[in-house]
Amino acid sequence: MARNEYNEFLFEEFNTFCNNRHTVSIGMAKYLCPTCRKQLAHPLDIQKHKELVSKSKNGLVLYSDIHRCVNEILGVCNIRVDNDLNVRGFEYIKLPSLQNRVSKLGILVATRKARSDYPEGIVTNIVDGVRLKLIMSMKKIDFRLNVGNVNSLHDPVIDLLHSTNGDIDLYLCGSNLPSYDNLKVWLQVIIDLLDGTQPCILGLILESFKYIIENNDHLPQQKDVQILRMILDSYFTCIEDINQGVVSSLFKGGGRSIFKSKKGSGKTELSTIIKITDEIVKEPNQPILNLIKINPEHFMDIIATLIKLEEAGIIRMEGCE
Ligand SMILES: [Zn+2]
Repeated sequence: MARNEYNEFLFEEFNTFCNNRHTVSIGMAKYLCPTCRKQLAHPLDIQKHKELVSKSKNGLVLYSDIHRCVNEILGVCNIRVDNDLNVRGFEYIKLPSLQNRVSKLGILVATRKARSDYPEGIVTNIVDGVRLKLIMSMKKIDFRLNVGNVNSLHDPVIDLLHSTNGDIDLYLCGSNLPSYDNLKVWLQVIIDLLDGTQPCILGLILESFKYIIENNDHLPQQKDVQILRMILDSYFTCIEDINQGVVSSLFKGGGRSIFKSKKGSGKTELSTIIKITDEIVKEPNQPILNLIKINPEHFMDIIATLIKLEEAGIIRMEGCE
């Protein structure tokens, strides 16, 4: 089902559910993504929306519509919606390109701007129902990512984190996640990883935040750090080789046990592995983005599977040119 159809389907389902409860009704704000040119529909709680409109100075409310955009990587379009659910304005949020800041000699151009001068990308929320408010200030690319539409006048900073190499400052302004202590450790991990990698696509940073939100119940383990690093590098990673002999024997015997997950989702995982390995056998040299396209909603599972395949000596991955 296409994303738009899926949203319409959700809309019908949700409306039926809500009408039965006589509490909420959901409307759709429709727009065309300027980047992937898909027709999209952003679901809204009408009553809540109208309350927000009445409090808004210009009669418009900002929502971040996060969808699978070009190459199935998450894209963020900030839409401004009026009382009648018409989209009155939209802006596609991108990270500034590092290349623009490199001089002809290939040397990084020094910038000494005040933090408040950086362009800011607002993402109103990453996962429905999860309140996460923070500002991540990335000095190398002169950019601030504002998650949760933090208003510096009204949202006090609770914690300030610095990446080890000093490129990223993170101002944490609140969250409703179950463990705040775990969250701080996860966020330190992600800013350290981002500091050591080339600035990538905003959608991959959002994927890594989704991973953090889903795994907030425990402290990051080595495996989690590996997955986060791979998510951030995924745009630049290619499969270099596959050991076809191992693949053919893998699914016959005990080899499959290494892919059994703790949560008992072994069967699903096995079918994903079969699809992925089939794809790699057909084309042994390809960007891992091609594999993510097989099932983009399971981005993280695919990444985790690729890491396991590499650890088992079945595939080899390297950075793409
Ligand atoms: Zn798009």
